[in-house]
Amino acid sequence: MPDVTQVAPGIYRFEVAIQGMPEVPVTYLIKAAGGALIEPGPAAAAPAIRQAMDHLGMRGLAYIIPTHIHVDHGGGTGTLSALFPEAMVVAHPRGVKHLVSPERLIESTGLVWGQDFENLLGPIVPVPETRLKVARDGEVIRLGGRELQIIHALGHSPNHIVILDRRTNGLFCGEALGLPGYQFPPVAPYSFDQDIYVSTIQDLMRLQPDRLFYSHGTVETDAGRAMSRALENARVYSTMVLEAAQRGTALEEIMVLVGDDFSRRYGQRPARADLEIAVAGYVIYFKSKGLLA
Ligand SMILES: [Zn+2]
Repeated sequence: MPDVTQVAPGIYRFEVAIQGMPEVPVTYLIKAAGGALIEPGPAAAAPAIRQAMDHLGMRGLAYIIPTHIHVDHGGGTGTLSALFPEAMVVAHPRGVKHLVSPERLIESTGLVWGQDFENLLGPIVPVPETRLKVARDGEVIRLGGRELQIIHALGHSPNHIVILDRRTNGLFCGEALGLPGYQFPPVAPYSFDQDIYVSTIQDLMRLQPDRLFYSHGTVETDAGRAMSRALENARVYSTMVLEAAQRGTALEEIMVLVGDDFSRRYGQRPARADLEIAVAGYVIYFKSKGLLA
């Protein structure tokens, strides 16, 4: 049974730790007419989701909403949609094809986790097309008296959405606003775009949410400070990686530079896995932009 905590009126949060996954996936349940789930996580999380729903007395779901189609957020969407046949799956227009035909998600997950990833993460199965609701930017989903506004928030991935709960002015921000704690940039190789990530943060700052429901780590109650940090870190570390790589500095050394700077500013080092992903991800990104050979 996962440790389920109420983080705002009607909003419940729990983590499902997956062996070998450095960033523990977080799932949210909104207990309101019909019920909604944000972040299915990988399929291996489905039994814990069932237990959490039983614990909360939630019998079904009207909406299943992955913020984006990476395995630790949306990998279990097909499995959950089969368990809750009345639920509609809400996704960004560019996420839909990866849910209906998940070949690319299966392929990229296999590259990172190994071909036998199903043993740890569970299977990635398709969502029937009839079960999908393509979310326009700004569209509002009603859940009893509750309004959930879907906002396109690209940058971390090309199919990322965030969800604003208008009742609490809380934002389910996925990975659009950095990694939790100190908002280190989540530079997923091959899907991250720095310019878009930065302009998304600026757009979301204008919404002035009161709190941020992160999809890894805890809830940020000082949303303004967290968003400013996300913006600053994206600028500081992208520049640091680019300039060091242009000087010919080795990846391992760039990781030390970034880690040292981060500890000076925040009194702690980012996790090694996050450092590795950010540095490698920025190098891949700047190569794709022609800024690095
Ligand atoms: Zn992601």
